[in-house]
Amino acid sequence: MSAVLSPVEKHVDEAAVTDGFHLVIDALKLNGIHHIYGLPGIPITDLTRKAQAAGLRVFSFRHEQNAGNAAAIAGFLTAKPGVCLTVSAPGFLNGLSALANATTNCFPMILISGSSEREIVDLQQGDYEEMDQLAIAKPLCKAAFRVLHAEDIGVGIARAIRAALSGRPGGVYLDLPAKLFAQTLDAEAGKRSLIEVVDPAPRQIPAPDAVARALTLLKGAQRPLILLGKGAAYARADDEIRRLVERSGIPYLPMSMAKGLLPDTHELCASAARSFVLPEADVVLLIGARLNWLLSHGKGKTWGGKDAKAWGAQKFIQIDISPTEADSNVRIDAPLVGDVGSCVAALLAGMGADWPQAPSAWVQAVAERRDRNVAKMAETLAKDPKPMNFHSALNVVRGIVKANPDAMLVNEGANALDFTRSIVDMHKPRKRIDVGTWGVMGIGMGFAVAAAVETGQPVIAVEGDSAFGFSGMEVETICRYQLPVCIAILNNNGVYRGTDKNLGGGADVAPTVFVKDARYEMLMQAFGGVGVYATTPAELRQAMEDALRSRRPTLINAIIDETAGTESGRITSLNPQRQAAASKP
Ligand code: ADP
Repeated sequence: MSAVLSPVEKHVDEAAVTDGFHLVIDALKLNGIHHIYGLPGIPITDLTRKAQAAGLRVFSFRHEQNAGNAAAIAGFLTAKPGVCLTVSAPGFLNGLSALANATTNCFPMILISGSSEREIVDLQQGDYEEMDQLAIAKPLCKAAFRVLHAEDIGVGIARAIRAALSGRPGGVYLDLPAKLFAQTLDAEAGKRSLIEVVDPAPRQIPAPDAVARALTLLKGAQRPLILLGKGAAYARADDEIRRLVERSGIPYLPMSMAKGLLPDTHELCASAARSFVLPEADVVLLIGARLNWLLSHGKGKTWGGKDAKAWGAQKFIQIDISPTEADSNVRIDAPLVGDVGSCVAALLAGMGADWPQAPSAWVQAVAERRDRNVAKMAETLAKDPKPMNFHSALNVVRGIVKANPDAMLVNEGANALDFTRSIVDMHKPRKRIDVGTWGVMGIGMGFAVAAAVETGQPVIAVEGDSAFGFSGMEVETICRYQLPVCIAILNNNGVYRGTDKNLGGGADVAPTVFVKDARYEMLMQAFGGVGVYATTPAELRQAMEDALRSRRPTLINAIIDETAGTESGRITSLNPQRQAAASKP
């Protein structure tokens, strides 16, 4: 009788020895990792070839930062570490910015880089691409490991997986020196050295007294508010969160990547009443959201200012898997440390059958404010200015997303980001992926590739013309893998807008201005995709519908008014000159 062999067993069965290459590949496969995002070159070219030969899908990019961003968002979308593979020194450094970004955003990711010979690096004798990569990576990620012996590859990858996924997820660096790959090992011993990680993201159950404290606070609230962050989206506790919101009747505000966790059209969604609910709420329940700059650190004008009645009197309950997150900006009255699913389930269990609905005066006040703002927005969206502006273009995207709720939405830019976030409703969880905690530019095409690969759904990428430039060359990657990605560039000829003047009066255009009427759509045509030049909402709509229907790589150059847009979008106040002006007595 012949047993059915797993891929690892088959490989071992066929060869008496294995090597570093195959141990890396087998360890990844054993742990359910079947995609590698990277860029081949010395010393990892053969690893990419052998990985492909062994059945992994290897997605080659044109720049490592984009491969790294793809791996990072793959981690968010699958709750398994996304793997990015790079060459040494410069390739490693390019991938490192994505690793740091992944860590900042709490996305699980492993950056695997080949490296030069330790003996030469440590004596600084000038090796090919010499760099002490491990030391450089350490402060920028959650954990960093190096494997020197082939028999330790299994442990190295297991440690990387655990570090990336357990507790607060994040980025892990794994350093694999060139010499490691060719090291050989008895195949049986090699197989035994691999580890299939058991329960890499253990549930963390909150303490009963912490749950009781949170419930007491919530029960006494007159104006409660739930704030959902991307940690809640990552946690995949969608049903529990919906039950908590609906059982309690508490209005909720989703952070941008938590949009769609409950539909943005839900009757308790307070997105369109943000500036009302933040200062007015008396008890705020944060679920997987940090009180960082995106929430004005929980204080100041956004939260009612020094004189407002709520400021300083507001109470916070915070659900977070990281025990050190509480009190990072303001006092957290009831920290609930644990995973979102377990914490929300514990709150629901503790609420019992007779839990009161949130006070109706408050819920109504929020709804009225929201409905008024939604009506105002509807008026603006109904206009048809010529040329198009952000609103009329995004009104089209809004309709397309509504008609295709399973499509993924990638979004980056300044105004292109801010307007999309507020105009385009999301209808399902984890469909919107964007610039995240850093508000970083350059995630666009990396995110688009991984979103298409990991979900199999069509991807709509709404890009500012400046933002697109950071990763634009990956349209070749999108065409090469024939991914169903539709890029809509909201093109106003520059950073923020295209009308700035050279303050010195010289011949150069202003630093924020690009080539007028640039034909971005031709970039997609150059690689066999569909390029469309769109100047009206009707043309934009037609092109997007065609793209979603055909699933062909498409780039729409949507020409909008070059005077549209404000400096830095909604974060003008963070520019130093504006800060100085604001702080003048
Ligand atoms: P947003 O930008 O949407 O407000 P943040 O990235 O600031 O979200 O916050 C996400 C928070 O979620 C982090 O503090 C992180 O520790 C937490 N988190 C991530 N995954 C989980 C989880 N499974 N359970 C609980 N908290 C989580």
